[in-house]
Amino acid sequence: MADPNILSTAKPAFDVDRIRREFPVLSQTINGKPVVYLDNAATTQKPRRVSERVFRFDTEEYGTVRRGAYRLCERSTQLYEEARKKVAAFMGTPDSSEIIFTSGTTQSINLVAYSFGKRFIQPGDEVIISNIEHHANTVPWQVVCEDRKAVLKVIPVNDRGELILEEYDKLLSGKTRIVAVNHVSNALGTVNPVKEIVRKARAAGARVLIDGAQSTPHIKLDVKDLDCDFYTFSGHKMYGPSGIGGLYARKEMLEAMPPYVTGGDMIRQVTLEKTTYAPPPMKFEAGTPPISQVIGLGEAIDYLNEIGMDKIAEYEHSLLEYGTQLLENIEGLRIIGTAREKASILSFHLDAVHPHDVVTLLDQEGIAIRGGHHCAQPTMIRFNVPATARASVSFYNKYEELDLLADSIRKIIKMFS
Ligand code: PLP
Repeated sequence: MADPNILSTAKPAFDVDRIRREFPVLSQTINGKPVVYLDNAATTQKPRRVSERVFRFDTEEYGTVRRGAYRLCERSTQLYEEARKKVAAFMGTPDSSEIIFTSGTTQSINLVAYSFGKRFIQPGDEVIISNIEHHANTVPWQVVCEDRKAVLKVIPVNDRGELILEEYDKLLSGKTRIVAVNHVSNALGTVNPVKEIVRKARAAGARVLIDGAQSTPHIKLDVKDLDCDFYTFSGHKMYGPSGIGGLYARKEMLEAMPPYVTGGDMIRQVTLEKTTYAPPPMKFEAGTPPISQVIGLGEAIDYLNEIGMDKIAEYEHSLLEYGTQLLENIEGLRIIGTAREKASILSFHLDAVHPHDVVTLLDQEGIAIRGGHHCAQPTMIRFNVPATARASVSFYNKYEELDLLADSIRKIIKMFS
């Protein structure tokens, strides 16, 4: 067991046992051992109430949205739009038409890259990303830059995994059209200083997209205070259903940008000669949306609000500090990503064992973590590792689970030595 004397984490009051009762999956066993779920950066488990809300909607309230004048359709549309209002309030905008439902962060970034790129990026213009982006915030910008004959610039990071802001200052210019960075890095856990990044971009006349896939489950948000133009999220990483997520976008941007997907529901009028578009958000929501998933997302947001994002952040921060201290004390283990501001993620590399072996052996102990490049190959190259093992915490995790993780890693190292 870990030596408690080396650990100095303050443990805030948090009724984790009550929380865990909401998540039936957490009381299962794997290989006869209690499951320890530490892959929350990939996807979070769902509380029972989210699935129950979707079930009730599907079995008692279901209808299509926006298309009919009968009761089930009206009710369904009302619930769908109420969910949009919940998301808007959660993100910090009073105007729910600034929220577009998409399938998640990947689609949200593709939407912006395509649509913003088509309207605003010209040959010779520049787009800035960072060296610690998920492929979802790298590849769409590479494609758009190739397409528009624009130039992609990259903010480098220091050895802790923090963006080097002096280099960012040098990259920004009158040619910069958009800066696209994550709020929290999925590979390292770095919390980027997004407010400062936005302020500097705006001073240079550039727009800003924040990839919020890893921040929305952990950090209280206020997009208006951040002053960004776009902010993305994924429902399945915030205790909601998969296949649903979204995009906050400043109204003026949604009005100026052309649609990304076209078809039914996004039009004002269609003749064989010409189509005019519906105002946002419908302009960006062609076709029948994932209605039940939207209702489930609304329920997940109610759940997060009831616990309180400040309380969640405080408890998870304490878990992260505790886990960091445990892992720092394991000989032969190197933590990858030691930024001063971090959230949720513990990425590490063992001198003697490949991350895939670590993950497989931990699975035999019932412990679920991720091993691989985490869809962030440029980050792996920067840190000169092929892959890392990554444990990521949620507010339903316990300190004891991190003890178990550390003890199991020690056993694996011993086995390989
Ligand atoms: N951006 C970051 C930082 C992520 O961690 C992820 C998923 O892991 C994504 C984007 C892509 O999210 P999704 O697969 O939900 O579209």
